[in-house]
Amino acid sequence: MKLFNTLSRRKEDFVPVKPDEIGIYVCGPTTYNLIHAGNARPYVVFDVLWRFMEYLGYNVKYVQNFTDIDDKIIQKARDENISFLDISNRYIDEFFVDADALNIRRAHFYPRVTAEISGIIDLVQLLVDKNFAYEKNGTVYFISKLADNYGKLSKKNISELEAGARVEANPDKINPSDFVLWKAAKPGEPSWDSPWGPGRPGWHIECSVMARKFLGCVVDIHAGGEDLMFPHHENEIAQSEAEMDGPFVNYWLHNGMLLVDNQKMAKSEGNFFLVRDVAAKYNYPLLRFFLLSVHYRSPLNFSEELLKAAAAGFERIRNCRRALAEHGAGAGEAGFIKAFKAALADDLNTANAISTIFDLVKAANIALREGAEAAVLQGFLAELDLMCDLLGLVISSESGVDSSEIENLISERNSAKAAKNWALADEIRNRLHTLGVVIEDTREGTKWHLTNT
Ligand code: AMP
Ligand code: ZN
Repeated sequence: MKLFNTLSRRKEDFVPVKPDEIGIYVCGPTTYNLIHAGNARPYVVFDVLWRFMEYLGYNVKYVQNFTDIDDKIIQKARDENISFLDISNRYIDEFFVDADALNIRRAHFYPRVTAEISGIIDLVQLLVDKNFAYEKNGTVYFISKLADNYGKLSKKNISELEAGARVEANPDKINPSDFVLWKAAKPGEPSWDSPWGPGRPGWHIECSVMARKFLGCVVDIHAGGEDLMFPHHENEIAQSEAEMDGPFVNYWLHNGMLLVDNQKMAKSEGNFFLVRDVAAKYNYPLLRFFLLSVHYRSPLNFSEELLKAAAAGFERIRNCRRALAEHGAGAGEAGFIKAFKAALADDLNTANAISTIFDLVKAANIALREGAEAAVLQGFLAELDLMCDLLGLVISSESGVDSSEIENLISERNSAKAAKNWALADEIRNRLHTLGVVIEDTREGTKWHLTNT
C-alpha cells in the first residue's frame, strides 16, 4: 500500500512499525457544536483507510480524541449557564449520532482531554525538566527553536515564523515562536491544579500524550485535516520528539478541505452545513458517498449541484444492486475487484475505486439485460458488496426491511444495554446499520429511521 506522507511530500510504501499491529491516530473534534460536512470528511476518509488496512490483513488499533475543554466550549457553557462538561458531553453524544449514521466505525479508544490531565502534566513537567519549556506567570511555553528541525512537517522556516509572530508579541514569551503547553487559568475558568498553579492544557499537548498512551511510539499513522498541519501537528511533533529523542510518527496523512464557494467550510466562517441537515435533505449514506467521490487530498466543493450528481450516481449503484439481489446471493467474482483494490492501495484513491464500481455496474446491467445465468450475476453482487463494504457504503437499505425485525433488534439492544453488555449492544447496532437503519437514543426511547428516508 502506498500512502502520501506529508512529511516527505511523497507517496511512500507503507511499512508498519510492528508486523502484526498498526496504530492510526486521528485528531477529533472540539466538542462545542454539531459536526458539519467538512468535519465529517476526515472521519469518513480515515474510516475507509482503517477498513482497507484491515482487509489487507493488518490488525488496526484506531484512536480518535475529543477536545472537550477549550475557549469556545467554556464560552458556550457561559452562554447557556451550564457546566463546560455538560456542553462537551452533549456534543460528544451528538457526534456519535452523526458518525454512526455515516457508518463510521467506532474507534477502539476515544480519549478526552479532561480524562488525561495527569499524563499531560507529566509530559509538560518532563519538557520543563529537559529545558525545552519554561514557565511564566503560570503558563508554560515550549521553545520551538530547540525542537529538531521545527517546521519540517509544514515546511515553514523558524526564522520566518519568528518574524511573523512578532506582530502579536506576548511579553511573557522569550521567543515569538514559542507556543503554549499549559495555560494559566483566568478567573472563573475551569482549571486543574498543577506545579505551575491552576490551569489547563494548551491545545497541542493532548494529542502527543494520547497517541503515546494508546498507541505507543512510534505511531504508524497520524491523520487529520490539512488545516491541522500547522501549528497543531507541527507542535505535536516538536513536543513528542523532544520527549522521546526520536521520531513520533512515521506517516502523516492530511485530507483536503471541503469548500463552499472556494472557501473552507468552517464553524467560524458561518458557511457550514451540518451533517444532519444534509442528511435530512439527502441521506447519510449519500453524504458519505459524496465525501469519497474525490481523492481525499483534493479539495472538494460542497454544492447542491455536485450533491445531486452524486445522488444520481449512487442511485444507479443501488438500482443495480437491487436488480442483482433478485437473482440470489452467492460467492464468485466479476473481475473488477483487482482494479478497485489497486485504486485504494494507491494512496486511498476512492475516486478511482468508485470508478471501478461504475465499471462493474455497467457490465452488470448488460449481464442483467442479456439474461446472464445466476452464478454470473451472483459474482457481480458479491464483488459489489465487498467494494461497498470496504468504502462503508450502505446500499442495501431498501431491500424490504421488516420493521418488526428492527423493533426486535432494538429491544434486544436495550436489554443488552440495561445488562451493561456493551459488546452485544454495539454488535446489534452494527447489525442494524447493515440493514440501513439509523437509531437514535432519546429521552422518549430509541427512535429509528432508514438511512434512505
Ligand atoms: P475541529 O473540530 O475544528 O478541530 O475539526 C475536526 C476535524 O475536521 C479536523 O480534522 C479538521 O481538520 C477537519 N475539518 C474542519 N473543517 C474542515 C473542512 N472544511 N474540510 C475538511 N476537513 C475539515
Ligand atoms: Zn490532534
